[in-house]
Amino acid sequence: MGRRKSKRKPPPKRRAIEKLDVYFNCPFCNHERSCEVKMDRQKSTGMISCGVCMEDYQTNINYLSEPIDVYSDWIDACEQANQ
Ligand SMILES: [Zn+2]
Repeated sequence: MGRRKSKRKPPPKRRAIEKLDVYFNCPFCNHERSCEVKMDRQKSTGMISCGVCMEDYQTNINYLSEPIDVYSDWIDACEQANQ
């Protein structure tokens, strides 16, 4: 009795394999995704620059840093500058 439920493998988790997003909205000109982050791991430097208004910013990164970290540093720096 009781046919065993066929064991179904759980569906593979949908992994977001999209590559890390390196385009962000510009806090200066408000263009969407106009700022590109470049990570220079050798120099431990993250650079972000806006292709529209040419604002740019550099910050130190470490091996855990991701483009979003560079971006949020930039936003922080902007906010501090505005205070
Ligand atoms: Zn801009």
